[in-house]
Amino acid sequence: MAARKTAIVTGSTSGIGLAIAEALAADGCNVVVNSFSDTAQDHGTAETIATKHKVEVIYIKADMSKPDECRALIAKAAERFGSVDILVNNAGIQHVAPVEDFPIDKWDAIIAINLSSAFHTIAAAIPLMKANGGGRIVNIASAHGLVASPFKSAYVAAKHGIMGLTKTVALEVARDSITCNAICPGYVLTPLVEAQFPDQMKTHKMDRETVIRDVMLARQPTKEFVTVEQIAATAVFLCSPAAAQINGTHISVDGGWTAE
Ligand code: NAD
Repeated sequence: MAARKTAIVTGSTSGIGLAIAEALAADGCNVVVNSFSDTAQDHGTAETIATKHKVEVIYIKADMSKPDECRALIAKAAERFGSVDILVNNAGIQHVAPVEDFPIDKWDAIIAINLSSAFHTIAAAIPLMKANGGGRIVNIASAHGLVASPFKSAYVAAKHGIMGLTKTVALEVARDSITCNAICPGYVLTPLVEAQFPDQMKTHKMDRETVIRDVMLARQPTKEFVTVEQIAATAVFLCSPAAAQINGTHISVDGGWTAE
C-alpha cells in the first residue's frame, strides 16, 4: 500500500477548515488539525476524524498570528509524520468597520492571520515538499480576493494579497512537482459569518434576515450560501492527480458572485 499523504489544515477546528480536514481524511490522508485554543474539544475533534476515517489525525496548537508558531506547526507535523504533502492555509478572521474607524489591532491581526501566516507556513513547507518529490498548497482566499466590499478593508487587502502570494509561489515551485492554488468561496454560513451579524446589522442598520438578503446574498446570484462540503471537495480535487497542471490560479465557488 502506498504511504499515506500528510495534510496540514490551518484553522481546522471549525467551519471550512474542519470540512477540509474531514474530506482529506476521507480521501486517505493523515491530517494535522490546528487552531490556537488547545482545548479538550480540539483534541476530541482530531480523534473523531481519525476514528471515523481510519487514518491518523493529530491536533497541533499554533497561533497563526505568530510567525514562529506558524513555522513550528510545519516542523512538528513533519517530525510526527515524516513529511508534509499537502498544506491548506485556511485560518482566517474578519472584522467589519468603516476604514476611518478600523481598529489598528484588528487590521494587524487580520493581515497576520489571513495573509502573513500563509507566507510562513509555505516557506517552512516548501523545503520538505521538495525533499519529498512534490506537494500541494491550497490557500483559502475569498471572493474578496477578487472584488471588494465596503467596511472590510483589512480582509479584502489580505485576501487580495494571498492571491498574489499564490501566483508567486506557483511560479517558484513549478518545476518541483508542487502546485499552489487558491479557492475563492462566496458566503458560507460558518461561525466566521455568524460572528459578522452583529456588526453588519449595526453598520447597515438592518435586521438579520435583511443582512442575509440585501448584504450577504445580494451579490451571490444563486441566492444560496455555499456549503463547507463544496469547498472541501474543491480542495480535495486540487490535491488530486487530475489537478497536477492547475497551478498559480484560483477556483471560485461563489454562486456566480464574481461573474458580474
Ligand atoms: P471559522 O471562524 O468557522 O473558522 C476559522 C478557523 O480559524 C477556526 O478553526 C479558528 O480556530 C481558526 N483560527 C482563527 N484564528 C486563528 C489563529 N490565530 N491561529 C490559528 N487558528 C485560528 O471561519 P470559516 O468561515 O470556516 O473561514 C475559514 C477560511 O475561509 C478563512 O480564511 C475565511 O476568510 C475563508 N472564507 C470564509 C468565507 C465564509 O463565508 N465563511 C468566505 C470566503 C472565505
